[in-house]
Amino acid sequence: MVRSIVGANWGDEGKGKITDVLAERSDVVVRFQGGANAGHTIINNYGKFALHLLPSGVFHQNIANIIGPGVALDIEKLLAEYDSVVQRGVPNPKLYISDRAQVMLPYHVDFDRYEEERLGKAGFGSTKSGIAPFYGDKYLKIGIQVCQIYDEEILRQRLSSAVEQKNVTLSNLYHKPPIDLEALIAHVKTLGERIRPMVIDTTLYLHKALKEGKTVLLEGQLGSLRDPDHGIYPYTTSSSPLAGYGTVGAGVPASAIKDVYCVTKAYSSCVGAGPFTTELFGDEAKELRDRGGDAGEYGATTGRPRRVGWFDAVATRYGCMVQGATEAVLTNLDVLGYLDQIPVCTAYEVDGKTITDFPSTPTLMRCKPVYTLLPGWKCDVRGVTEWDKLPENCKNYIAFIEKELQVPIHMISTGPKREEMLYR
Ligand code: GDP
Repeated sequence: MVRSIVGANWGDEGKGKITDVLAERSDVVVRFQGGANAGHTIINNYGKFALHLLPSGVFHQNIANIIGPGVALDIEKLLAEYDSVVQRGVPNPKLYISDRAQVMLPYHVDFDRYEEERLGKAGFGSTKSGIAPFYGDKYLKIGIQVCQIYDEEILRQRLSSAVEQKNVTLSNLYHKPPIDLEALIAHVKTLGERIRPMVIDTTLYLHKALKEGKTVLLEGQLGSLRDPDHGIYPYTTSSSPLAGYGTVGAGVPASAIKDVYCVTKAYSSCVGAGPFTTELFGDEAKELRDRGGDAGEYGATTGRPRRVGWFDAVATRYGCMVQGATEAVLTNLDVLGYLDQIPVCTAYEVDGKTITDFPSTPTLMRCKPVYTLLPGWKCDVRGVTEWDKLPENCKNYIAFIEKELQVPIHMISTGPKREEMLYR
């Protein structure tokens, strides 16, 4: 059986914590897309961790963690993260890397940076981890799969062809020094040797595991609205964060996905550029940002202050829909306890009309939020684990959101720690 944990919004919904919680009941945890460009914050018995590439099952010794073929594999970052987790007392995690995953090359990171520099203010808020150039090359078929590293002839032929093209762009568009092919080949070979013991056919592994009745958890990165097809293009990422893509990026049968847990915060937060209808500014934003998350809303990978806003039911309903959510998981409920009244965006106003379906980007950029005001509960619900212990207004807030999303909410997170969880 396959379950997936994915984001309903712009990323940073708290998927890491939910994966850590649900990992306990899983045999395999798989990363199926994205790379080191976003982070999951996990707080457990070992301490606080910001995982970027490692699957969130690494804290459980019985779990196999997999980097699927759909991931942008930054080998140096993955190994550094592995070492840092082990150094902090976590027993050596079981980690497998797909022989079909493609490798992040140093020039992908350089091109990402150069392109953001070239675009200036018109940039997309890239984290400059090489993600867009990496996926661009993958689909241009000039990327390097892990399995190709171990065949010197293939590696040399492919890299020299790619580098020829890259060097033209480097000198003519970006005015930067060319890539040294020999140094690059040596670098990639060294990295390949370092991961060699972990490289397997993960697709075969997963299919076997499923035949044996094991439970596989697909761990999404970012969220629906960053999907290149269904999100706020071009302010999206370059791989699909949708549960549906999990079948491709992990390598499991589509029919095997039974549960899609779509994670959303009790308010909104967003890192990066693009339309964000319920965005707050000034003191109101500062207060929510500083109270949000486990230590304020600042990016787990970049440290950038996150943009924050009220809960957007229009965007989140759409986010759950495109994920095919079987349930929504609400996180950061405890953050809202300071408010007398809590606005929830239940419609958009655009071109003199009121709409409740999430529009495509050019229209979205003109949308203004229409709010419904709900009464706050004015107390601290941090760490509450029983539904009946929640104040009435808090229960009503959850019930209101559930009705708006049109998917059930059974799991509610009332704090960043693993045990701060309520099952309704
Ligand atoms: P992810 O990428 O979806 O895993 O999200 P991040 O880890 O980047 O961001 C979620 C933030 O919220 C982190 O700082 C978490 O520690 C924190 N967090 C998760 N659940 C809760 C919660 O229920 N309450 C509070 N206060 N913080 C939470």
